[in-house]
Amino acid sequence: MIDAHAHLNDPRLSADLPDLLARMRAAGVEGALVVGYDLPSSQRAVALARAYPSLRAAVGIHPHDSKDLDAAALDALRVLAREPAVVAIGEIGLDYHYDHSPRPAQREAFRRQLALARETALPIVIHEREAEEEVRAILDAEEGWALGGSWHCCSVDAVSATEIARHLFIGIAGWITFPKSEHIRALARAVPMERLLIETDAPYITPVPFRGRRNEPAYLPYTLQMLAEVTGKPAGDVEQSTTMNVRRAFPRWTLDEGGYDG
Ligand SMILES: [Zn+2]
Repeated sequence: MIDAHAHLNDPRLSADLPDLLARMRAAGVEGALVVGYDLPSSQRAVALARAYPSLRAAVGIHPHDSKDLDAAALDALRVLAREPAVVAIGEIGLDYHYDHSPRPAQREAFRRQLALARETALPIVIHEREAEEEVRAILDAEEGWALGGSWHCCSVDAVSATEIARHLFIGIAGWITFPKSEHIRALARAVPMERLLIETDAPYITPVPFRGRRNEPAYLPYTLQMLAEVTGKPAGDVEQSTTMNVRRAFPRWTLDEGGYDG
């Protein structure tokens, strides 16, 4: 089992990283994608992926911090993207729920990072909240779909999810375990298993029964278990498929397997 989206670069998690990684392995989670959200966290993601063979990195500026994506930051991301441990550009996209950055700045940062992904031939990790239509329009306009990658913490309706899944893998997070999240369970049933990933988005979206606590990769099995129940498939099959899908979504993951000392 691989956690396709975790922020082990978040100070809330990196503080006790050796113990956290030990719990992760004990829970049967063999790897995690550490996802950047600003420049320092992208640098930390790369440092972690270089230090631990089970980790890989995505580098990028979250829509919340879009206003900070100047030419220097973009250059710095470009340099980071050359690291073999970097398997994706992300997380990038639009967040119209919080609007922490002005919407024009979000759109501009999203476009520029899609251009970076094209230039570096890396897949993308999409963050989208209350902005599905515009994210899809920008992916259309910028040839973003062809890059591949994931639409993380996907919460669109089931019909949209099956359309998106033709191009990008769909990230299923701990939301699927929440009693009120029937729409997430519906999309998980609608999308073929060959297009699903499981993720924690740690330290956020902690699954039931630990909801309310800090999330970490060791809790990923609860999301896997719920996905198995919802789809009516054996947990072992779901584990095998979603693990294989991570390597398909982020092809560099396989190429550099074991290439680091940890
Ligand atoms: Zn995230």
